[in-house]
Amino acid sequence: MTDSATLALARELVRRPSVTPDDAGCQQLIAERLQAAGFITEHLRFGAVDNLWARRGDTGPLFVFAGHTDVVPTGEASRWSQAPFDANVVNGVLYGRGAADMKGSVAAMITACERLAADEGDHAERLQGSIAVLLTSDEEGPARDGTRRVMETLDARDESIDYCLLGEPSSTDVLGDVMRLGRRGSLGARLTIKGRQGHVAYPHLADNPVHRAAPFLAELVSMEWDQGDEHFPPTTLQVSNIAAGTGATNVIPAECTVDFNLRYSPATPAERIKSRIQSLIEAHALHTSIAWNDSARPFLTGNGALVDTLQTVIHEVTGIQVEGNTAGGTSDGRFIAPSGAQLVEFGPINASIHALDEHVNASDLDLLSSIYETVARRLLTQQDT
Ligand SMILES: [Zn+2]
Repeated sequence: MTDSATLALARELVRRPSVTPDDAGCQQLIAERLQAAGFITEHLRFGAVDNLWARRGDTGPLFVFAGHTDVVPTGEASRWSQAPFDANVVNGVLYGRGAADMKGSVAAMITACERLAADEGDHAERLQGSIAVLLTSDEEGPARDGTRRVMETLDARDESIDYCLLGEPSSTDVLGDVMRLGRRGSLGARLTIKGRQGHVAYPHLADNPVHRAAPFLAELVSMEWDQGDEHFPPTTLQVSNIAAGTGATNVIPAECTVDFNLRYSPATPAERIKSRIQSLIEAHALHTSIAWNDSARPFLTGNGALVDTLQTVIHEVTGIQVEGNTAGGTSDGRFIAPSGAQLVEFGPINASIHALDEHVNASDLDLLSSIYETVARRLLTQQDT
């Protein structure tokens, strides 16, 4: 049996070992395919990161397929049942690093674009607006020179996105059961509590920052932030590292450093989190310095043309009533959604991502490509936008 166009492309991409930030030629291959389909392609390289922006059409509305070509490391390759970059298909399942996260989705987007472009000439409902593809090789890494920089580039030339379908693997048990309507925010902090170093036998001459930290941390971790809402779970705070001490058992240390991270919903904006923690620091009369890492703002795409159309098309293609949620870590959606674009994440089953023996059902890739194509077609033929 020969591979479908989507499976064949997914296998070609998996064979390129594009561990972040090395794109390993994935975007070059994709650019050639899209050029043949009438897209204008731009390679936007920032630092060590390759990004691709490919657009067909120059009018609005603009529908964008977004994703990444980079993958996480394989871990011990000898422990995989199939070599991680061989792209073997066994019993209808494609194995390989990136098969599910997210070269399968990228292949599905590209073949969807090719079909959308191919029948444009004679299709009864001629597409209005433009289709684009945004890919980065830095989603799994620091995410500094990837989608963020591409969005800055688009913003600088007033190129604005109306609809964005991000192909992250959102499905849980079966293709079509879950789409992501948004993501929680992520706010990190490194708090340094200052004391005065001294001998443990002379505590009156010292000021122990560990002792000062303890009651403060007890209150910090028991703070209630919000109750969550229908789309977001309650905001949580977790301490990840605490460091103090010289190693000697007879020295009171000079300072204590605490790292913590909040995953938060829009119900509690980052500014309110910061000010509540600042008040707690003051209430405990601590001498501190704090460095915030405001790495992702929360976002949510409510019901609208994109969510409604995707929901309908998933049902038509898979027979499943998709559930929308905001679970999981951060995604590159955080860089695209603030531009005002309607953004939804939808892709294959995520059970094996980042794990040994990562895999995706080959037949799901064809369904996915069909869903992507139909959603774009409907949104670009509805003229009430
Ligand atoms: Zn991913």
